[in-house]
Amino acid sequence: MIQKGMASLCAKDSIDRSGKVLSHTPPIYASSTFVYESPEKIIKVFEGKEEAYVYSRWSNPNIELVEEKIATLECLGLKDTNGNTLKAKSLLFASGMGAISALFLANLKQGDTIITHNNIYGTSTELLKDVCDGLGIKTVFTDFSKIENIEKQIKEHPSIRMMYIETPNNPTLSCYDLEALSDLAKKYGLVTAVDNTFASPCFQQPFAFDIDFIVHSTTKYLNGHGTALGGILISKDIEFMKKKAWKVRKTIGACCSPFDAWLLNNGIKTLPLRMEKHAANALQIAEFLENHPAVTKVNYPGLPSHPNYRIATKQMSGFSGMLSFELQGGLKIGIRMMNKIKFCTLTATLGTADTLIQHPASMTHATVPQQQRLAGGISNGLIRMSVGLEDAEDIMEDLKQAML
Ligand SMILES: *Cc1c(COP(=O)(O)O)cnc(C)c1O
Repeated sequence: MIQKGMASLCAKDSIDRSGKVLSHTPPIYASSTFVYESPEKIIKVFEGKEEAYVYSRWSNPNIELVEEKIATLECLGLKDTNGNTLKAKSLLFASGMGAISALFLANLKQGDTIITHNNIYGTSTELLKDVCDGLGIKTVFTDFSKIENIEKQIKEHPSIRMMYIETPNNPTLSCYDLEALSDLAKKYGLVTAVDNTFASPCFQQPFAFDIDFIVHSTTKYLNGHGTALGGILISKDIEFMKKKAWKVRKTIGACCSPFDAWLLNNGIKTLPLRMEKHAANALQIAEFLENHPAVTKVNYPGLPSHPNYRIATKQMSGFSGMLSFELQGGLKIGIRMMNKIKFCTLTATLGTADTLIQHPASMTHATVPQQQRLAGGISNGLIRMSVGLEDAEDIMEDLKQAML
């Protein structure tokens, strides 16, 4: 169930309508810079005594509108330690990877280490291994399903400063216990961050488990239509976001374009409606696949057969629209199925209105050595689906004919 209030929050824009032209939807501020009434005002802004729009790499009205909306969504229904409504600040980036890069750069320095699990988003792994490593920020990749295992690694590596979690993850939809992980991180003074892309704020609010930072690739469910790249970084530490994280965005220049922010805001208006339908369709398809003779295994956190069903039920209020399944017969059968798909779209992204299907072993993970792929749960016959908003019957018909 999606929380009461989410739908209103998503659909409503709080924009200034005091200008002469009263447009219903927010205008797009396609302007790299902004003007001031007086030089005195500029001085105050540059001295940091007053806030104003200066330059769109610093901020822009379209960007701030979605920043406020997403931060409020992630806090909806949650209280701070004093019993007041939880408040957070977010920053929008050019892409999910922009937000994840800023998370690492704003929090870590040479000599620090991150602990994360083996199967995080491919490009996040590349960022850690091929970019952060060269800057002296190291990563310990481990199995996050056993708390004792993580604790052992933390004890062995005193330079660990951050715990980075992706739940549910890609493509096996494994879920990791946010409450237990947050408690463990606190015990050792680690900063925690969650990539919440797969669940969206509708179905999972990591702040409920006192997680420090949340990131989303807004390219996926938040935008929902595949029209623009974007990423967001959110934290309850408002000062940190205003100073350190903002400085990172300003200096690396990974800012979102006003038009992309505007498209994102348009997408968010229907987020709760879409998420409910994505989840309802995904459950129906997961159940259909579970009963299909050509399918040996279905990974969907909303199925009681999923190994992390208990964790998913504890920390998620819905199970989103991502699932994967294993076909009997391996690589050849997987490729054959992709060739026969007609109604679903053969592509690698996720979170759009239409159903997307892909075969990781021959597509997204084709360059990953087989052994490493298998260790990450990506078998040769694994198929991943981002279940869309169509009639579930049409999706099932297509799967049925493609598996014949
Ligand atoms: C897509 C994705 C990213 C990266 O986001 P981009 O917008 O493509 O840069 C990060 N994490 C997850 C879970 C994703 O699905």
